[in-house]
Amino acid sequence: MLDLLERQHIPIWSNQRNEKDPIIFGGGPVLTANPEPFAPFLDVVLLGDGENLLPTFIDTVQNVKHLPRLEKLKSLALIPGLYVPKFYLPEYDSNGKLKTIKPIHKNIPHLISKQTWRGNTLSHSAIITPDAAWPNIHMVETVRSCPELCRFCLASYLTLPFRTSSLEDGLIPAVEKGLTATNRIGLLGASVTQHPQFNDLLNWLNEDCFDDIHLSISSVRAATVTAEMTKILARHSSKSLTIAIESGSERMRKIVNKKLSEEEIFMAAKYAIDGGLTNLKLYGMVGLPTELEEDVEATADLLLRIKRQISNLRLTLGVSTFVPKAHTPFQWNGVRPEAKTRLKLLAKKLKPNGIQLRPESYGWSVIQALLSRSDRRLAPVIAAVRGSHTSLGGWKKAYRQIQEEHVSQENYNPMPLAKLPAWDEIIHEDWNTSRVLPWSHIQGPLNPKVLIDHQKQALTQNVQLNSKE
Ligand code: SF4
Repeated sequence: MLDLLERQHIPIWSNQRNEKDPIIFGGGPVLTANPEPFAPFLDVVLLGDGENLLPTFIDTVQNVKHLPRLEKLKSLALIPGLYVPKFYLPEYDSNGKLKTIKPIHKNIPHLISKQTWRGNTLSHSAIITPDAAWPNIHMVETVRSCPELCRFCLASYLTLPFRTSSLEDGLIPAVEKGLTATNRIGLLGASVTQHPQFNDLLNWLNEDCFDDIHLSISSVRAATVTAEMTKILARHSSKSLTIAIESGSERMRKIVNKKLSEEEIFMAAKYAIDGGLTNLKLYGMVGLPTELEEDVEATADLLLRIKRQISNLRLTLGVSTFVPKAHTPFQWNGVRPEAKTRLKLLAKKLKPNGIQLRPESYGWSVIQALLSRSDRRLAPVIAAVRGSHTSLGGWKKAYRQIQEEHVSQENYNPMPLAKLPAWDEIIHEDWNTSRVLPWSHIQGPLNPKVLIDHQKQALTQNVQLNSKE
């Protein structure tokens, strides 16, 4: 993002832009969850669903285009869901902990509320190109959010409530539109098979006139896989089914609220092979709160048992390290350093037995946690790390440098002198639920009290399960 700005000769810091510069705005889940690390680069952040935000944002920009830049931004800051970071002042205590983040002008809201689209259609690809991450695929958003509320899950908690696109007014016209440009259709969403008419959609796509369509769906809940579904997918050139199990340990699945039994996982594997699919991809995590080494061994054991029972199914485990995400019940839980050795443990157990392992690098998860839980004091680090941003070493070096030089406050204002917090405090420490969070001024879908309750429920499960044992 910063490189793009520089290439256009636009100052990267919002407070260095003047009347001739455009208004730089951003949106999407990363910025909606915690915009603070990026706040000093952006003039406006759109919090929530574009369907609501973009029309109002564009209309307001048009209406105020004759005003001086500061006045334009003040008008935008009054629109629900539009966050203008420069009008909010963070204060820190003597230990560098965030104390408050308050608006600096009266009339500007203390809490900025994320906007939620409640129409009966969702989005689909606007551009189909071979250069996309998924080349030549027309993506059709089938559902938004997920009702399952797994305690770590941003895709569920940040975008609640669970919404579905109407079959007649949304999904069918969107697929038909895509088919005028490509024969590759992707059904997209955190939990597509939970659409109440998902089977009707599949049956429609299974009609003879759609024989040459390549159909792919994102990861599905194992418990919703059916024999009919895998048959239809195989008929339309899908080779694999992806299910997220999170952990092979029933104990861990209970703690994270993954309502999935081992039997359902085995049934999904069986339906995959019976339907004609050749690959089963499973997603898992290590380093979840309260996880023990034996839970990770249970994951390896489960994969090995599936492999033994259904030997001609190619198995892949994609595994990442737990990263705390804003607005989820596990936002207060830090990254666990044990995750690194647990990734190695899985590799040792699975690779020699013909199960592919696709681990996300532990270092990359740590970088994600840094972006996920930091406040705006991280911005100078982001600016300094360019060129070496793909390595954890590069981030640590930039962090140390900014911490030591204490240069952050010179780059933008309003910004009181405040040193970067300790690295471990942001990445690894479990935070007290009474802590003021960098995103406390952003109103998410659920009251923070509900998130605390959900976190407590998870941790109480741990105590109950342990005492039963
Ligand atoms: S089922 Fe998947 S998408 Fe839904 S809450 Fe759980 S992890 Fe998130």
